[in-house]
Amino acid sequence: MSLRDSLRRRIRLDGPMSIADYMSECLLNPEHGYYTSQTAIGAEGDFITAPEISQMFGELLGLALVQAWLDQGRPGPFALAELGPGRGTLMADMLRATRGIPGFQDAMELVLIEAAPRMQALQAEALADYAPRWLASVEDLPQKPLFLVANEFFDALPVRQFQRQGNGWCERRVGFGGDGESLCFGLGAATGQPALSHRLGDTRDGDLVEYCEVASVVTEAIAQRIAGHGGAALIVDYGDWRSLGNTLQAMRAHAPADPLADPGRADLTTHVDFEVIAAAARAQGCAHSRLTTQGVFLERLGITARAEALAAGLDTDPLNQLITAHRRLTHPDEMGNLFKVLGLFPETSPPPAGLEK
Ligand code: SAH
Repeated sequence: MSLRDSLRRRIRLDGPMSIADYMSECLLNPEHGYYTSQTAIGAEGDFITAPEISQMFGELLGLALVQAWLDQGRPGPFALAELGPGRGTLMADMLRATRGIPGFQDAMELVLIEAAPRMQALQAEALADYAPRWLASVEDLPQKPLFLVANEFFDALPVRQFQRQGNGWCERRVGFGGDGESLCFGLGAATGQPALSHRLGDTRDGDLVEYCEVASVVTEAIAQRIAGHGGAALIVDYGDWRSLGNTLQAMRAHAPADPLADPGRADLTTHVDFEVIAAAARAQGCAHSRLTTQGVFLERLGITARAEALAAGLDTDPLNQLITAHRRLTHPDEMGNLFKVLGLFPETSPPPAGLEK
């Protein structure tokens, strides 16, 4: 049975489904989910991510985490962790760049959290030299100092959408159109939503807000380790401080698509609401940095000097590729402004390199 047919059956039985349930099914349905059934990321896939654009991204993030480890007195043993490692490229670049740091990799245990078996297989290949261990959930993160990266992970987490009506909220759901067959968006009845009470002040009737409960749960687990044992997290994604409006989008073959058109065949994401992540960290007694654009962050970490070093001796074609990659990662018209970085760190430690309190 196709995913579309199984979604239709479910809606027929249970009624319209939340956007979060729809996203979960489309992305991670064991048989037909987008991440479970295809190799999504990369030039031949549907979208390309920063580590797939250039090795410089992983190298600089790896060294920023090493600096945090040094600043905190070289704690060991510690966990080096990644959420949603994709093809394993980011972690492979981080590990290559940090190999020469005395004591770092000896004190490290590498742990990965990845829901899609297909992606795990790619990660096992890319990271074969480092004996990674996959954890089923963030709850299984070891109780040790935690140095963690997550790039384009939070944007794939399921969000619910609510449209404001008076002081209540109507949930936006996926149900059937007038023909009783095609999938379409609709609104449920208005109800109170305690989790959205902080949004009554900055929204008006008819405004749509998104709420990602999983983002808080994931952040709490990370922040508890960092506050209790030390460490740092670098969370990179597109989004902003407090989201407003519908940001659900589908990408297929590097182009925007209709999120309902072909369930399981397109990547579905929403813009990350970093305020929710920061609040969840604070609630665990963990400090967070100012939200910083990816372009500024990478420039502060020295991406231009790194590009110049890599450029020495390159022929015209690879040199042009390197210049394009540097521009894509940092330029405000490319990923430089849209993507943001939030750092988590212990109250008693300085923020990770490239970020400020
Ligand atoms: N960080 C990688 C990949 C980003 S794509 C990069 O920058 O290239 C999102 C990744 O998160 C994929 O590996 C996907 O399979 C994984 N993923 C998505 N939702 C997840 C979830 N709920 N739990 C664990 N992994 C998830």
